Amino acid sequence: MAGQVAGKVALVTGGASGIGQAVAELLAEEGAAVIVSDIDELRGPEVVASIRKAGHEAIFLQQDVTSEPRWADVISDVEKRFGRLDILVSNAGIGIAVPSIVEMSLADWRRQTAINLDGVFLSVKYGLPLMRKSGGGSIIMMSSLAGLRGSATLAGYCATKGSVRLFAKAIAMECASFGDGIRVNSVHPGIIDTPIWGKIPTGAAGNGRNAPIDPEERAKLATPLGYAGQAWDIAAGVLYLASDASRYVTGTELVIDGGMYAGAAARQP
Ligand code: NAD
Repeated sequence: MAGQVAGKVALVTGGASGIGQAVAELLAEEGAAVIVSDIDELRGPEVVASIRKAGHEAIFLQQDVTSEPRWADVISDVEKRFGRLDILVSNAGIGIAVPSIVEMSLADWRRQTAINLDGVFLSVKYGLPLMRKSGGGSIIMMSSLAGLRGSATLAGYCATKGSVRLFAKAIAMECASFGDGIRVNSVHPGIIDTPIWGKIPTGAAGNGRNAPIDPEERAKLATPLGYAGQAWDIAAGVLYLASDASRYVTGTELVIDGGMYAGAAARQP
């Protein structure tokens, strides 16, 4: 049986770890040729090697999503090698937590915004023309539950993810008005067990301890379903938005969060 994205070409930023890695693996498994891009030159090629070993098509392109000249090169490389781009997953992101916003340096604010928001803008600025040339496609922007509601220690992160949410809707409207066949949606993961949690500096975790945030522990308390999601749970949503199964879906937000956005559910004894 043909895969759900067979014959399509997909670019996944931040594809060397966590959600991006799961997205790259699932899209490749479902028949897409996948370009894994990441700043991490060690893990990126490993992810690609394991996708190829499983018999699927993938290449790695090293990329810092904040670099405009690199975006121009990456897209021209994609065009040279594959001739088209059908699926753009703007996923690379970081999280910087601080006990209080007054403790956040302007440098950290800007670094986080550069990756989480400027990186998404540049992905669209450079990816969209090739997608239009290709006759249509699907853009999927990785926002967060923190793009829908506030989180005390993550104000800067919330600002970037809330911006991505509305940027996606605006680009969806632009594409609809152009009639270019490109759909644009945002994805909003809740607490997903990936390496990102371990990268949030210790001491800023807001857990009263000088220890990294444990996503499983946090999810047990905060998530109606009572456990953290896995990267695959998000990849499954991205696959839906990338495939023709979602051909009538644009400008919307796909929340995958174990029920956190809907409300709170105390466990029955
Ligand atoms: P992760 O840390 O496992 O992966 C992020 C990847 O992005 C890494 O491979 C990293 O090298 C890459 N990256 C970082 N800076 C980059 C840059 N400047 N240029 C290119 N690549 C860069 O994290 P993850 O949990 O897989 O997160 C993926 C996305 O999902 C992020 O946008 C994150 O904000 C979002 N998200 C994650 C969760 C969660 O609970 N894990 C929840 C909501 C949203």
